[in-house]
Parts: sequence; structure tokens; C-alpha cells
Amino acid sequence: MTFLPYSRPVLDEEEIAEVVDTLRSGWLTTGPKVAQFEKDFTEFIGCKHALAVNSATSGLHLALEALGVGEGDKVITTVHTFTASAEVIRYLGGEPLFADIDPDTFCIDPEHVRRLLEEHSGVKCIIPVHYGGQAADMTALLALAKEFDVRVVEDAAHALPCTHNGRMVGTMSDVTVFSFYANKTITTGEGGMVVTDDEAIAKRVKTMRLHGINRDVFDRFTSKSPSWHYEVVAPGYKYNMMDMCGALGIHQLKKAHKFQQQRKYIAECYEKGFAGLPVETPGIVNPEDFHAWHIYALRLNLDELTISRDTFIEKLSEKGVGTSVHYIPLHRMPYWRDTYGLKDETYPQSTAVFNRIISLPNFASMTDDDINFVINAVREVATAHAK
Ligand SMILES: *Cc1c(COP(=O)(O)O)cnc(C)c1O
Repeated sequence: MTFLPYSRPVLDEEEIAEVVDTLRSGWLTTGPKVAQFEKDFTEFIGCKHALAVNSATSGLHLALEALGVGEGDKVITTVHTFTASAEVIRYLGGEPLFADIDPDTFCIDPEHVRRLLEEHSGVKCIIPVHYGGQAADMTALLALAKEFDVRVVEDAAHALPCTHNGRMVGTMSDVTVFSFYANKTITTGEGGMVVTDDEAIAKRVKTMRLHGINRDVFDRFTSKSPSWHYEVVAPGYKYNMMDMCGALGIHQLKKAHKFQQQRKYIAECYEKGFAGLPVETPGIVNPEDFHAWHIYALRLNLDELTISRDTFIEKLSEKGVGTSVHYIPLHRMPYWRDTYGLKDETYPQSTAVFNRIISLPNFASMTDDDINFVINAVREVATAHAK
């Protein structure tokens, strides 16, 4: 039996050749390939600074650190995300406040954010997540940030490329962080990018990603002043990106738009293919905007089906279709639930959505046969178990 995985990275000969070139060059850690990748990234986004790191998690940590988030500071994020969006707040001793989501986009609900801002003093920052690659309501969130004088760090792990009313994600707020984890829209294996237009933030992130040293290793070995000399100005981290990863990033970035078009095509095929089934296809806010389509989350209409979401997933797996669920919300995770006393009732939208979502395969190298394989499997399971 053939099995179609949920996700598969798309790597071509040029990525392989670039990594081999890096291996032969004798320079493995942060160096010329990372510098090239960063330069290309600023042009791709249209931002001033792009700083490569070894993961988006590291990038989010550095972003909050650069904004001065510390002990007891409150930071608002969504429950409907990967734990990384919230754990970075705890790294710095901050206190997360969680908001529910918009039921159509699964992005943070600005009205809930407003209530949290009104109820709590000492909020320093908001971390919206562009769920699945569709931008959160940045117009509303940036207005709230201004009204309440808080900063915004975008978790753009899904959002390359992505726009909000024509504006590129990465150009709107204080800091934006992208992920190049193996299953993300482009990949460097592990990796991330911190993007900002703010000189001071960029400088701090650059220093803190490498031990708090105010001069990076590549600088030290290529500039005229003595290579042994450096200064430690803060207790930094070890979050720099390796050149082997930068080598992958250079070529992946060139294909980011092509990959997006392919994922969009898959979403369009699914939209047509699932017509008439007891399911809801993803809601689209502005069809003019770029949707990165990192996740294709199908919603089951459970009251029209005789089986649960979990059984639906089992049946798809029996038919050879790999799936996932994004996400088991944070208020259902023992650490977050128990530490912060989070309850299902506080997050009705996320709770309801969680019970009915399935993420379907939608990686850029899927063929028409693969797409039809998924459509047929979903159609068969839904039809066989319709009420
Ligand atoms: C993948 C992901 C991250 C973390 O990215 P890494 O590069 O693996 O650290 C953060 N937030 C969200 C929403 C993600 O999906």
C-alpha cells in the first residue's frame, strides 16, 4: 500500500550542491552563506534587518529579550498554537496571558486581546500567530498595541510568504520571526529568521544570538582588526545559524513563491474536491492577500457524521493518508493548563475547533495523483460515515 506522508521537504540538486560547496569550503558555522541568506531575506520581505538563528523558538526568545521582556512582565498570545509561542515568555520569567481565536481563521481574536489589555496592567507585548499562513487581523492588533502602548512580536512560523491587506508579514510590527523547520514553507532543516526595521533591536538580537559577543566570528576572521579580540557585553545565547543551513536557505528562498503557488493550487483542488461533503473548508479573509498555506485544516461537521475526528483520522490512515492536528490547544496541555488554571470555557472557539480539525497533506511537491488520492480518501470516509 502507498502511504502519502503529511509533509515532505522539497529539496533539489541546487540545495545539495550548495551544502556540498559549504562542506568543501572549510567554513561550517555562521559565515558567507548565512550572510547571503540574510541579505536575500531582507530583499524578499522588504525589511531593513534579517538575522538568521538556529530556530524560530530561539528567534522569538531573542525578540522578547530585545524588547526588554523580563520577570513578571505580561505577554499576550493565543492558545491555538505550538507551545513555542508561549514557552519563550517563560524563558524570561514573563507571565503569559492567553486569548481565544477567531473561529474562521483560527488566529488570535482581537476582541479577547482587548479584554485582556483592559483587565491586566503590566502587559508588555502581544504575540499573534499567523495560523496556517493566513495573516492575523494585524489592523486591529496594531491599533490595540498603539492604544495600550504595548509591543508586537509576530510568530510568522507559518507565514512565508504572507500579506495582510497587501502588506508583507515582516514589515508591520516591532519584530517578526520566521521558521525554517523541516516541515515549514521553506526549510533549512532547523532554522529561523528574526526580522525588524529597528536598529537597536537588530543590534541586540545580533549580540545575544552569539554569547553576548559584540562581534561575530565571521567578522572577526574577515575584518582587519585582530581576530582574537572580542568583548562580551551580556550573558548571551548560542543561537546562530550554521552555514550548511544558510546554504539550504539561499535556494529555498528563491522558490518560496513557487512553493506558495503550488500549495495554493492544492488548496483550490481540495476546495472543489470536498464540495457537498459534511465538512467546512478553510475560511479566507481576503482573497487578494498571499496565504502561505502552510496548514490546510479541514473542519468536520461532526453532527452530520457518525464518527469522531479521531476515528476519521484513523480511517484516513488506513487508506494511506498521513494527517496531523494543529493544534492541541495550550489550554489542554498539562503544563499550561495546570500552571495557569486554563479552562475549556475560557476558550470556546479553540476548544470547539480542536475537536473537529484535521490537517491534510499540502506540501509543494504533491502531484495531481497525490492530491486526488487525498480527495478520494476524504470523500470515501465522509460518505461512508455520513448520518
Ligand atoms: C514551528 C513553529 C514554531 C517553532 O519553530 P522552530 O523553528 O521549530 O523553533 C513556533 N511557532 C509556531 C506557530 C510553529 O508552528
